[in-house]
Amino acid sequence: MSGERILLIEDEARIAQFIERGLIYEGYRVSVARDGQSGLGVARDNPPDLVILDWMLPGLDGLEVCKRLRAASDVPILMLTAKDDIRDRVSGLDAGADDYLVKPFSVDELMARVRALFRRSTPNSRPEILRFSDLTLDTGTHRAYRGERAIDLTAKEYELLELFMRNPRQVLTRDVIFDRVWGYDFGGESNIIEVYVRYLRQKTEQENETRLIHTVRGVGYVLREEE
Ligand code: CA
Repeated sequence: MSGERILLIEDEARIAQFIERGLIYEGYRVSVARDGQSGLGVARDNPPDLVILDWMLPGLDGLEVCKRLRAASDVPILMLTAKDDIRDRVSGLDAGADDYLVKPFSVDELMARVRALFRRSTPNSRPEILRFSDLTLDTGTHRAYRGERAIDLTAKEYELLELFMRNPRQVLTRDVIFDRVWGYDFGGESNIIEVYVRYLRQKTEQENETRLIHTVRGVGYVLREEE
C-alpha cells in the first residue's frame, strides 16, 4: 500500500513545495512538474499512481492537461483550482478529473482527498473489520474505533495500526515495520516509527483507556492487552 507515486503539476513554487512536503511526510513518492507539457512528459515516461493537477498553468492549462492525461490512462486525477464557480467544476469533471479541491486548502484536506482517490482506485481489496480488544478497524473506510469512540487517522497512522491489527500479540521489529509501512529505507537513524507510535498512542489512549501498543525494548513493538 505504501510508496505510491504521485505526480504534482503546479507552477507556483511555494504551493508545490507545501504539497510535496505533505505528501512525502505521508510516505508517498512525488514527482513535481512546473507546467503542463513537462507534466505530460513525466506521466508518459514514468506513469504515476495519482496526479494532482493545478488548473491555472502557463502554456497548456490544467483542463487541457487533464483531457490529455485521461485520453492516455485511467490514473486518478485531483484538480486544484482557485475558481469555485460551479461551471468550472463541471468542466473539470467533464474533462475527466476524479475530484477537485478549491484553493486555499489545508494539508489535511488534501491528504483526505488523496486517500479517498486511492481507495476508490483499488476496489479489489475487499473491506474487512479487524478487531483487537475494544479496538476496531474498518479497512474499507479506514475508520478506527476504540469502543464507540471514532479515531481519526492519517494515512500512515492507519497503515501502521492495520499492520499491528493484522499481527496481534506478535512482536514487530523496527525493520519489519519500516518495510511494511514505509516500503523503503529511511537511512537507519530515523525516529519516524517512534513518532508514529506516539501519535497512535495519543489517539488510542484517551482518558482511562489502557495501552495496547507496547514497546519491546531494543526490538520493536507489539499490540497486546495490558499484562
Ligand atoms: Ca497555478
